[in-house]
Amino acid sequence: MRFRTLTPALLLAASAFTPAMGATLTASAFDHAVAAGQTTFDLSLDGTTHHIGRLDRVDIEIEGPDGAAGAMFTAHADGRPATIVRLGQDIDLTFDDETTARDPGAAVSGMARRMPAHAANDVLPGAENGDDAARDDGRPGEGLNVYVFLHENARERDHAKFLNWYLTWWFSEMKRHIVPGKHVRVFLKDAVPGLTDMKMNDGTMNDHLNWVRLRAVDHLRHREGDLPGMSRFILVVGPVPSSWLSGALGAAFGRAAIVSNTANRHVVAHELGHTLGATHADSKMFPCASSMADNYFGILSCRAYTEKNRQNIRNYLKDRL
Ligand SMILES: [Zn+2]
Repeated sequence: MRFRTLTPALLLAASAFTPAMGATLTASAFDHAVAAGQTTFDLSLDGTTHHIGRLDRVDIEIEGPDGAAGAMFTAHADGRPATIVRLGQDIDLTFDDETTARDPGAAVSGMARRMPAHAANDVLPGAENGDDAARDDGRPGEGLNVYVFLHENARERDHAKFLNWYLTWWFSEMKRHIVPGKHVRVFLKDAVPGLTDMKMNDGTMNDHLNWVRLRAVDHLRHREGDLPGMSRFILVVGPVPSSWLSGALGAAFGRAAIVSNTANRHVVAHELGHTLGATHADSKMFPCASSMADNYFGILSCRAYTEKNRQNIRNYLKDRL
């Protein structure tokens, strides 16, 4: 089973951050600083030198598509809250308050455009799909495994940037505030036939969610045997499939979720939240949109759940992790 060997490799990476072969000069300098236990240093990225402070590793296990281990950090960069991802040869620094880089609404108008990050049938009736979440949540104590599949139409080539944009702060919240002490792992996958090249214009949203679940389980069982612990599967697509309800940018049911990378930064946390017991009813919109709130372009994401939704997720995971 592959993750049995993943853990020691990642622990090794955590204890002595050995510079990766072929890594860029910047990545090597970063690795050396981390290995030396430095939390404050200067880092040159794309021709700009950033002053990094308060570097703090998020206790999460990461595997990239090529099997390389990665690491996530929270930090301050030039005095602003930021997150850093190291993966393979890459390093990415993203500021917490960055919103525009992937915001297609920004080019449309100055007005906030209401685009719900979920469909009306976000939570689907179980009969058709068969809600396998409760049944297949694995053995308690094995941790939570999040499998992220990158559809080829999402064009997510910079994997460190992708993880940093959508997931570092989510994992940080999970590990530091929701389920501290529990194992949480993320596996980034691409080039999975039948899944990352799925025909998104065939079928309905329900079909798509079903296919994600079935094909992910099939792929992982074929590759890795029985799935240990809880597993959640999320497919990241580019354009919203034409058969989806107007306005939907993501969907979730049971253990499976789909998001469009045209949505706000909290769309992944939103749909994963649905698979872990969080609700719209316990979200908030002001002064920023919490992770289970609708996706309003122009309103800053809190990049966090409300305390009520944190408690909902804790309750949901209590007997499962
Ligand atoms: Zn929703």
